[in-house]
Amino acid sequence: MNQFEFFEKFPTEDNAIDFIVETKYKDGYVCPKCGCVHHRIYHQKYNHRYLYCNNCKSEFSALTGTIFEHTHLDLRMWLFAINLVLIARKGISGLQLQRELGMVSYKGAFRMLKLIRYAMGTEAHKDTFEAIVEIDETYVGGKPRKRNGEKKKSKRGRGTSKTPVVGVVERSSGRIYAKVALPNKEGKKLSGKQLLSILDEVCKSNTTVMTDQLSSYGILDGKSDRKYIHIKIDHSMTYSLGDGKHTNTIESCWAILKRGVYGIYHHISARHLQEYVDEFCYRLNHRDVGRAFKHLLGLGIGCVCARA
Ligand SMILES: [Zn+2]
Repeated sequence: MNQFEFFEKFPTEDNAIDFIVETKYKDGYVCPKCGCVHHRIYHQKYNHRYLYCNNCKSEFSALTGTIFEHTHLDLRMWLFAINLVLIARKGISGLQLQRELGMVSYKGAFRMLKLIRYAMGTEAHKDTFEAIVEIDETYVGGKPRKRNGEKKKSKRGRGTSKTPVVGVVERSSGRIYAKVALPNKEGKKLSGKQLLSILDEVCKSNTTVMTDQLSSYGILDGKSDRKYIHIKIDHSMTYSLGDGKHTNTIESCWAILKRGVYGIYHHISARHLQEYVDEFCYRLNHRDVGRAFKHLLGLGIGCVCARA
């Protein structure tokens, strides 16, 4: 939603709290102290964040077990941040969010983004992709440059020292699932086993898998439990023959991820890369911002989350 719609929907802090509480407890709530079930929501009068049990007269926080649990900030700020993250196609930096919200500390804005990304990463895709999927890998990191002491520039593409990310796209729906593929114990990047395990996480049996000519995809030609049908595209010849054999869908997703990394985040360490990849995948999977707002709020409410 745009900013006008946002402030119309949430003119005060209480509106924001009510919206979160109603989303969380749409089927009523159980008092954590006496176990009594309430179908109507009783807010504590002095603070809407607290709910009240009229059986045992106790009160408890409505935000326990959500990404908002330990926050001292206004929840309206949180909802505004969630909306901004969803509409910023290439992502939003912590500093930008700090400016947008008029926050004093950068740390607070950064923590917000981290938790929103965490919620985005909890979306489940297990065994849902079918028919035709494309799989491809990309490398995220700084530009290949000559460093002190190195004689040659580091390579582009395969053989680079950047971090590989593997993505799978379902052709019919355009949904994407991507995972950072760190080298295995022997230091081998993108082994056949690793690629197969990523496919197995999301694809149903008998899915047609389009790949480029990376030798590791050869594992798909052997016997796999899920009986994938493997189509290999020779990029040295052509990118599409007009017969639907291509990996262009996933490559256009990489283009958006890379614009975000170059333009907004500049540097992402390999350790935290998965969180950013989750963010981009989430936005690509939920292009209708209005619906995504509700969906993401649901995820944020649903994840019992470690404190960031
Ligand atoms: Zn009670």
